[in-house]
Amino acid sequence: MSIQTLKSLAEALAQKKTSSRELVTDYLAKIDAQNPRINAFITVDRDGALAAADAADAAIAAGSAGPLAGLPIAHKDLFCTEGVLTTCGSKILANFVSPYDANVVSQLKAAGCVSLGKTNMDEFAMGSTNESSAWGPVKNPWNLDRVPGGSSGGSAAAVAAGMVPAATGTDTGGSIRQPAGLCGVTGIKPTYGVVSRYGMIAYASSLDQGGPIAHTAEDCALLLNHMAGFDKRDSTSLERATEDYTRDLNQPLAGLKIGLPKEYFGEGLANDVRAAIEQALAELRKLGAVTVEVSLPNTHLAIPAYYVIAPAEASSNLSRFDGVRYGHRASEYKDLAEMYAKSRSEGFGAEVKRRILVGTYVLSHGYYDAYYIKAQQLRRLIAQDFQQALTQCDVIAGPVAPTAAWGIGQMADDPVQMYLADIYTIAVNLAGLPGLSTPAGFSGDKMPVGLQLIGNYFGEARLLNIAHQLQQTTDWHLRQPA
Ligand code: GLN
Repeated sequence: MSIQTLKSLAEALAQKKTSSRELVTDYLAKIDAQNPRINAFITVDRDGALAAADAADAAIAAGSAGPLAGLPIAHKDLFCTEGVLTTCGSKILANFVSPYDANVVSQLKAAGCVSLGKTNMDEFAMGSTNESSAWGPVKNPWNLDRVPGGSSGGSAAAVAAGMVPAATGTDTGGSIRQPAGLCGVTGIKPTYGVVSRYGMIAYASSLDQGGPIAHTAEDCALLLNHMAGFDKRDSTSLERATEDYTRDLNQPLAGLKIGLPKEYFGEGLANDVRAAIEQALAELRKLGAVTVEVSLPNTHLAIPAYYVIAPAEASSNLSRFDGVRYGHRASEYKDLAEMYAKSRSEGFGAEVKRRILVGTYVLSHGYYDAYYIKAQQLRRLIAQDFQQALTQCDVIAGPVAPTAAWGIGQMADDPVQMYLADIYTIAVNLAGLPGLSTPAGFSGDKMPVGLQLIGNYFGEARLLNIAHQLQQTTDWHLRQPA
């Protein structure tokens, strides 16, 4: 069976060839069949999905349906969903049912989307493999011994395996682009501030951004239309006119100038990934694009800066999980201090604890200037690099990750090795720029490779246009795991 896009399902619904109930029933059956192997879902909201599907079918019949009416999606389990469990991949939120919807969730609901459930993720979105989830690792549908990437690995694996046509994700240092790349699907992280963070459980607030994961750039554009937009409940949400992200999909690429940062093609990039990226770039040249070499000289500072800033913000954000108002509380304790300590020790996993310790350290008196302030200065230099490079080209392209998906457990004992694998994605978050991952062929061992496109602020429509044009002349995004 070929891949099913939101676009094709919307057409089938419009032509009355199917109903939302039928679609939702089909996808729930696919989840039942696949999830025991892949572990992409933490919660399947069977009853909620069927009720929403019936409501969508009624709205379609009455002519009052929203633009995405009846289309099944899933949400990464850090988007708060009213009445449905939201765990953020953590034991500390194992029993947390949110009293409200995240802005992304309510907007997609209003557009008519039907949520099938919540997807697995690295605990508090900290990770690049999905191995840090309290609900066990997600398996890459292309090879069940490999990681799907992270932290939105459940969303990417669910789409790749055909358990849902599209899903939401979040990206703090690569968590939409990298799992999309490693699972052979498309994902976009918008400009910081374009998608409201209201109801999105915070990891590192100055870096976190929600976005869609789907088979095609066109589906990402359709979803982003209903994820983006000003929201006064998020103080960093940007007050600007709404956009139609599908508007430029069909623009020809003639004359497009693509910058290739020499730092993204140097040592550390696996040969098979390099070959796949070169092949995708050759396709873009056939479509009329030209490539020029550019430089992002401070690339090597991105990971050190990120691993000060992200843990600093995380240590502050995660202080709210204290077992008092919601979440896990230790069953035995002598006094309040011990209740906090035990609840947090029991509730958080090893990677989250490591980040809280690092964050607390770099923010402490005497180290703040040496680490935190310094990292903020590096962040500025990294952002300036992109602005400099973007004077010489329209967009920047390169790999999403230095290798294709690696084995589950392979980097589990070496967090620094794992941190280094985010070398091509993290700087984009530090700069607040939009970045997209689109399928670009396969590695030597037949695992998907992702091409990353990075634009200037608010360049989402252009990135989606380039990926869409590439997807019109290549079939990598149509391939499916066995
Ligand atoms: N792998 C990075 C981290 O662990 C990025 C994760 C993300 O984007 N949420 O912080």
